[in-house]
Amino acid sequence: MNPPKHLYIGGKWYSGEGSERQMINPTNGCVFTEVREASKNQTGDAVRAARYAYNETTWRTDIKKRVNSLNKLADLLEEQTEQFAIAETTNTGKPIRESRLDISDSVSCLRYYANLVSNRKAWIKKMPDGTKSRVIEEPIGVCALIVPWNFPLLLGMWKIAPALAAGNTVVFKPSELTAITAIKFAELVDQCDIPPGVFNLVLGGGTPVGQALVKHPDVDKVSFTGGSDTGRKINEQCASSFKRVSLELGGKSPIIVLEDADIKAAVEWGIFGSFFNQGEVCVASSRLLIHKSIYQSFVEYFLEKLQRINVGNPLDEGTEIGPVISAGHREKIENYIEIGKSEGARLLYGGQRVGEKGYFLSPAVFTEVKQSMRIVQEEIFGPVVTIQTFRDDNEAIELANGTLYGLAAGVLSNDFERAERLASCLKAGTIWINSYHTPYVEAPWGGFKQSGIGRELGPQGLSGYTEVKHINLNNELKPVGWYK
Ligand code: NDP
Repeated sequence: MNPPKHLYIGGKWYSGEGSERQMINPTNGCVFTEVREASKNQTGDAVRAARYAYNETTWRTDIKKRVNSLNKLADLLEEQTEQFAIAETTNTGKPIRESRLDISDSVSCLRYYANLVSNRKAWIKKMPDGTKSRVIEEPIGVCALIVPWNFPLLLGMWKIAPALAAGNTVVFKPSELTAITAIKFAELVDQCDIPPGVFNLVLGGGTPVGQALVKHPDVDKVSFTGGSDTGRKINEQCASSFKRVSLELGGKSPIIVLEDADIKAAVEWGIFGSFFNQGEVCVASSRLLIHKSIYQSFVEYFLEKLQRINVGNPLDEGTEIGPVISAGHREKIENYIEIGKSEGARLLYGGQRVGEKGYFLSPAVFTEVKQSMRIVQEEIFGPVVTIQTFRDDNEAIELANGTLYGLAAGVLSNDFERAERLASCLKAGTIWINSYHTPYVEAPWGGFKQSGIGRELGPQGLSGYTEVKHINLNNELKPVGWYK
């Protein structure tokens, strides 16, 4: 039997010449399929194919073609929402209703960038000396797009859609744990009459495949989403050649609950913020900061609600929390729970394995925590939340800003002026007031401090894939008049 072909390079399918990788369903710990990953040479082939398509096809100049292709991709993906959602849930363990959201958000992202580039106007102005200046945005060239396993297709689309819309060509590398929807997406690209080499898919680990992409001299831009340690390494590697780079990294985001907030609503947002996608979300509200006067009633209701949460098979419609991604990741989370206990925090609830099979954990809550504790400072990336109190707004701000991260934050209150004042003092890229989690394709997303460099989504997300060029035009060629 011929080995399956899972790499999409230069418009053709290839069998990987790298390692064989088993795809594990985290719900039962069983292998559901296998893929063959790319070798270093094949990764280089993908970059060469992208370079050829960038230089030799009309992709970078033909906006109409790009808009049609992105819209066609959106239509095809929308038609297959359910198949993609089931594949995503099987591969990641996320509840099926959340996978459906991922796919519909991916469709919206493709349409948004198709629409944005089709309406983009060049900036033209008359200058004080009578010349005319035009500022245009051009594609950067070949972009390497590297994403993690928590939202495999959606985080990919936040890069693929703007990069392609802007006229770049791309090499996409999903996490080694979650290759399935990336392969399915490449199958859609194959049906769209997109020039060969514009979109390339390579599968494989951070080493050798991710690293080979980052170091490749023909890659003009690296767009990376993942952990801060990996991001730091990539940033250093890109610095030596001034390769363009954008980084969407980790977080330790707080929700601040003011004393006037409705307790029931605040608890629901706290649970949603902390445990959506098993807490495996860069913006998870893993720190809840509650005004001292409502702390007792908040915690009581939080506990009551949490005990009713449905942890189970993510393909069941009623499931609210699925398994975490892998056995290794569950151990990492459990290790943090032990660290929390040994630091003197009180594990109020959860953190237990659930069921015999798969990688389930009950959602965990720590109280009696100190700001200096590792469970407050470090990203756990799982269903673990800490609850702290504050006395006044200054203390809330100090606690909220008191980590190395700055990705997101929430404020819950009916006092909008006070909430806005707090928002202006928070060092984070996204602040939700009386809501949490929703990314809007129209608005930028990214981090302050060690949560990243650059922004995705919105017009800023498109700018991340363009170089800005200023053309100054003098209508008549006359002597400079500067020399005698
Ligand atoms: P990693 O940083 O381990 O990996 C992310 C991606 O980078 C994977 O595809 C990985 O490959 C690849 N990679 C690893 N090492 C290298 C390298 N040296 N060179 C190039 N590529 C490399 O993160 P996780 O997959 O563990 O994802 C979790 C992290 O992602 C969390 O910290 C989370 O906060 C962050 N994240 C940030 C988001 C944001 O928008 N800011 C959104 C979602 C997640 P492989 O895994 O195949 O080895």
